[in-house]
Amino acid sequence: MSFLVGVDIGGTSVKLGLIQYGETFKVVKQSSIPTQAEDPANVLVERISKAVKELVESAGNPAVEGIGVGCPGLVDPWAGIVRTSPNLKNMPGFELQKTLSQCTGLPVAVQNDANAAVLGEWLFSPHSRNVRNMVLITLGTGVGGGVVCDSHLLVGAANAATELGHVKVEYTNGALCACGKRGCLEAYAGLAGIRRIANELIASGIPTTLKAGNGLTTKDIAIAAGAGDEVGKRTFYEVGKYLGRGIAICLETFNPEKVLLGGGASAAIDFMMPGINAALDECSSFTFIREMCKIERSAFPDDINVIGAAAVYLNSQRN
Ligand SMILES: [Zn+2]
Repeated sequence: MSFLVGVDIGGTSVKLGLIQYGETFKVVKQSSIPTQAEDPANVLVERISKAVKELVESAGNPAVEGIGVGCPGLVDPWAGIVRTSPNLKNMPGFELQKTLSQCTGLPVAVQNDANAAVLGEWLFSPHSRNVRNMVLITLGTGVGGGVVCDSHLLVGAANAATELGHVKVEYTNGALCACGKRGCLEAYAGLAGIRRIANELIASGIPTTLKAGNGLTTKDIAIAAGAGDEVGKRTFYEVGKYLGRGIAICLETFNPEKVLLGGGASAAIDFMMPGINAALDECSSFTFIREMCKIERSAFPDDINVIGAAAVYLNSQRN
């Protein structure tokens, strides 16, 4: 049995997980501490280090091989630092990998959180054994992407490749994205985009149990869809259509064996599949590429952040 610790540093909380892998894979134990992003970076890292020690102790002190860290924003895994991160203002430029390693006495590897997520699926999901090419699209507040291609995480020149949330899926009057451009996948399949589509359908007068407004969540819409609500179902059909356009680009670029959907909205995959398939009928050029690709929900929809973070360390030892 081998053990890893995964640390997912988010804007509001840091999630930690002790992962066992080898013959059996499981998340042995998890914990969480507030990020308090206003803290100096060294203070935050000291608190993370303490939380790692407490987590490992609480599980009977198994020998941990290393710590993997997932973090939003532009991460430099070679230098072990965060270059830019919108919700972690004190982290850019700080020697995250080196400092956490010194504090814990364990080797550390860092990676962007969306890249971490695809590594978690690829290295640990029992459904992904022998898969050499996979795409993970995470549907949350934003839309993230990670790609494993020919059995390697695809990172690009600055570890900034595969920003699939900003692949363009609408060129005519595209919706405004948080990045400032129009027509990005995130503007249709991120939380704000899904909410906008639902609100437009409610405003069009279709009878619904959903209440329009900024409080609408993807969970509300999914529950309504599950109960047969027309606006709920049509919202996810529309979201699926745009996702399908993004997936078509991925099929032709990466020829993946799998495209996985993660994040909260992936719970509504059954309602999105008709839209995804309609878009693929329209946009996917090569039948054999489409037919060899399975589109599924993530195997770890709830724990992918810490599992992915742990996988970052394991992957760093493969290269
Ligand atoms: Zn964008």
